[in-house]
Amino acid sequence: MLIDTHCHMDFAAFDSDRNAVISQCRQLGVEQLICPGVSPQQWPKLDALAKRYEGVAYAVGIHPWFISSLADTPQAFSLAQYDDQLKNIVAGQLRCVAIGECGLDAKIDVPLALQQEVLEWHCHQAQALQLPLIVHCVKAHNEMLQCLNNFPEVKGVIHAFSGSIELAENYWQRGFLLGVGGTITYERASKTRSSLSAMPLESLLLETDAPDMPLQGQQGHRNSPVNLVAIAQQLAQLRGISVEAVAEATSRNAKGLFGRLS
Ligand SMILES: [Zn+2]
Repeated sequence: MLIDTHCHMDFAAFDSDRNAVISQCRQLGVEQLICPGVSPQQWPKLDALAKRYEGVAYAVGIHPWFISSLADTPQAFSLAQYDDQLKNIVAGQLRCVAIGECGLDAKIDVPLALQQEVLEWHCHQAQALQLPLIVHCVKAHNEMLQCLNNFPEVKGVIHAFSGSIELAENYWQRGFLLGVGGTITYERASKTRSSLSAMPLESLLLETDAPDMPLQGQQGHRNSPVNLVAIAQQLAQLRGISVEAVAEATSRNAKGLFGRLS
């Protein structure tokens, strides 16, 4: 059994064939899908998806790319308005298994200070509700680690991890797992490949980030959670172990982190 810990099945990219993709996943042994939240407007759609499809779970959060869609100016941005909505979802729906995705992205136009404020709000929610955090981090790892250090009880996953073994170890020591995605199928990603091969198997989760992050050879095409099988095979090959061992360990890790899954 495999668990895709990060795919966006609610996105419009799957509107035409969502049933088919999810049933193909089941046939291939990709039995659980975790769909992260990206904005409060979209949270109800995730809830509907989890009610409709067995094996679909979700998270509630505000992705840094979606911050600018919530307010015209940073001054007009108030997070408190979402407190109750988030709390009610978590209390009422056990298939809501995490807070996120949230994080810091130095490549976008939103001021980093505003992104940090939004990230801290998610950390507070994760701490108060005792749920893991799904983190998106691009070129802002120092700031991310600084923030996480203020919330020692909060655990989670660094989604689509890419970076050095030192960085991977920093997160792992903080109680964060590393999301292994399509990046490892690219030969040029040698640094990420070697850090993810050297980290303990207990520190890894599998994910596709579908419809984004296509595998090598599929650039320009929609990614699908079906490709989780190929990611598991690639990780097994890099580590010199069987794909069954990868599946068994990463599913156990996912159920350990996302306690509501099992
Ligand atoms: Zn994502």
